[in-house]
Amino acid sequence: MVEAGKLTEEYGCLVFNDKIMRERLPKDIYKAVHKTIEQGTHLELDVANTVAAVMKEWAIENGATHFTHWFQPMTGLTAEKHDSFISPMDDGTVIMEFSGKELVKGEPDASSFPSGGLRATFEARGYTAWDPSSPAFIKDGSLYIPTAFCSYGGEALDKKTPLLRSMEALSKEAVKMLHLLGYEDVKRVSTTIGSEQEYFLIDKDFYKMRKDLLFTGRTLIGAPASKGQEMEDHYFGVIKPKVSAYMHDLDEELWKLGIPAKTKHNEVAPSQHELAPVFETANIAVDHNQLTMEVMKKVADKHNYACLLHEKPFEGINGSGKHNNWSAITDTGINLLEPGDTPSENAQFLVFLCAVIKAVDDYSELLRISVASASNDLRLGASEAPPAIISMFLGDELTSILESIKNGNEYAVHEKEQMKIGVHTLPRIPKDNTDRNRTSPFAFTGNKFEFRALGSSASISEVNTVLNTIVAEELKQFSDVLEKADNFEKELHNLIRKTIIEHGRIIFNGNGYDDAWVQEAEKRGLPNLKTTPDAYSKFLDQKNVDLFSSHKIFSYAEMKSRYEIALENYIKTINIEAETMIEIVKKQILPSVSSFEEDLASAIASKKSISENMSCKFEEETLAFESKTSDKAYSELKNLEKVLSKAKGESLELAMYYKDQVIPAMKKLRSEVDTLETCTSAEYWPLPTYGEMLFSIKY
Ligand code: ADP
Ligand code: MG
Repeated sequence: MVEAGKLTEEYGCLVFNDKIMRERLPKDIYKAVHKTIEQGTHLELDVANTVAAVMKEWAIENGATHFTHWFQPMTGLTAEKHDSFISPMDDGTVIMEFSGKELVKGEPDASSFPSGGLRATFEARGYTAWDPSSPAFIKDGSLYIPTAFCSYGGEALDKKTPLLRSMEALSKEAVKMLHLLGYEDVKRVSTTIGSEQEYFLIDKDFYKMRKDLLFTGRTLIGAPASKGQEMEDHYFGVIKPKVSAYMHDLDEELWKLGIPAKTKHNEVAPSQHELAPVFETANIAVDHNQLTMEVMKKVADKHNYACLLHEKPFEGINGSGKHNNWSAITDTGINLLEPGDTPSENAQFLVFLCAVIKAVDDYSELLRISVASASNDLRLGASEAPPAIISMFLGDELTSILESIKNGNEYAVHEKEQMKIGVHTLPRIPKDNTDRNRTSPFAFTGNKFEFRALGSSASISEVNTVLNTIVAEELKQFSDVLEKADNFEKELHNLIRKTIIEHGRIIFNGNGYDDAWVQEAEKRGLPNLKTTPDAYSKFLDQKNVDLFSSHKIFSYAEMKSRYEIALENYIKTINIEAETMIEIVKKQILPSVSSFEEDLASAIASKKSISENMSCKFEEETLAFESKTSDKAYSELKNLEKVLSKAKGESLELAMYYKDQVIPAMKKLRSEVDTLETCTSAEYWPLPTYGEMLFSIKY
């Protein structure tokens, strides 16, 4: 374990960070790299050559023999191909080489990554391009270079490229707005993200015994344990020493990689935990969240745990999400969602707040789509996670301020500390907005928004690409109005008021888990896209195509490819689950149940052989129930096989078939199998139970 005193030394020791660059690069080269990072300018080849040479030296000193362009293809995972630094010489020796060209650009064989039809396999060329704004790092003896991944024609084949484009779009529109508001010194705005990551830890030996966990990441069958999470004794509870050792190890590994892991605690469900980092610039946060998930699994393995990142590993037990905390900050250090102290700061805050309100209302379907996956469908709206209806929580205080603007009233001064009066007619805003509403998918939490609908296993790229783009769009619309204003203050006030009147329906401060909300939301006309196919059926709507193309985030072809990939992913996921379920039931469950039945039958026979009148109530009743239920399970198994064999068509049509036919057939089979579990002898049950898995970690 790292001693506390050594921590500052060890932090980021595997990262080619700014400090290392400043120390090792010639001054002019360091400046050129900085300019590229800050302004996105092109990096000259001679600069790249020098950086590469210095990077290589540093990497070798730190034990690296290879380098890899590290990218995030549409699989949702990360990809890497390692090349060694060695270059053979004529005399049979080698030298270690790494050129600027190798640093800046790579050409992985990309034919097997999903492209959704963007790139025919015969022209498999895909390029990786260095993202100098996310630092390179060393892992397992290789120098990792964060990159974006594009096709030969420049179309995005990954999750990083659109994110970078959306950060640019947001920066451009936010800067324009800030200039209008009088903040003329601002040159750049960056998005900041803090993603809280939930996960489960279970005993690795149990994990290895369950094909469903191995193949699909979740349990496909399993009766509830006698104890679940009803005692609520796990949330923020004492962390068990063994788990604590895991968390220490995890922190240490993350810190070495320069990932600012900050808080850790137990979650609501037994064996469920959370890790939150300090927020960072969006693209770095995305890289770091990917690494965090990877390191979580790797460290778990060392501790004989399996780390489950699936959104719903256990039915009936809370699932795992990833809270995406989002805000934007100027290069002059202003958090745009922080209520300020001066009148102009208040106006600025309200403009950006209103841009977010309008964005979420205008594009709630896109936000829903950005969190859609087969695994997250199991969690959203399952009374522990926000429903699939997108709404916003602002807290009572902020809401009443907006109400008063809407109604043209002076906002009654609260006894709490208030901020100074805003631009004449704009009211004071309470500084401490600490209201908490855990049921809202999109909550304002004082100086940032927290989007809670994202699933635990997902990349945080898409949600932030959407968030940045939709807010950029609204800022653009606002600027267009304000630029033409004769009376700026009056127009600004009108704009804010108009937004509140027209988009107030998206604000909901009540209990999002309540059924009444579903009806209320319908009355308000808010979409409720319950499943991934439902959500994606809206993705290619003209409104979304216009949005993404006008901000140069996605061309139509790029959107279409993403649509195809998402649906294909959905179909494949459910297909694997159905096949796995069939295999487990056929090869493990039914044969085990049959052996138990045989045992019961022979117990009855041997009792009866002693005396015809001997009572066999337990054996006879259990046997009768077991045979009846195993017959039912067998019919449901056959039914699932039949349903699966009829799956045909493609994309949306096929996805709908999986949703409407395959998932219900799986549910019916599960129900019979779970009933069987409740009456089969533990000795015969072939799988670790929910009770065993969830309460496996004792100390
Ligand atoms: P919670 O009550 O949700 O735990 P915290 O204040 O602990 O709230 O913050 C949760 C996450 O929000 C952390 O990852 C934190 O770094 C992040 N966060 C805080 N401020 C910002 C910001 N300005 N932009 C983005 N994320 C932020
Ligand atoms: Mg939170």
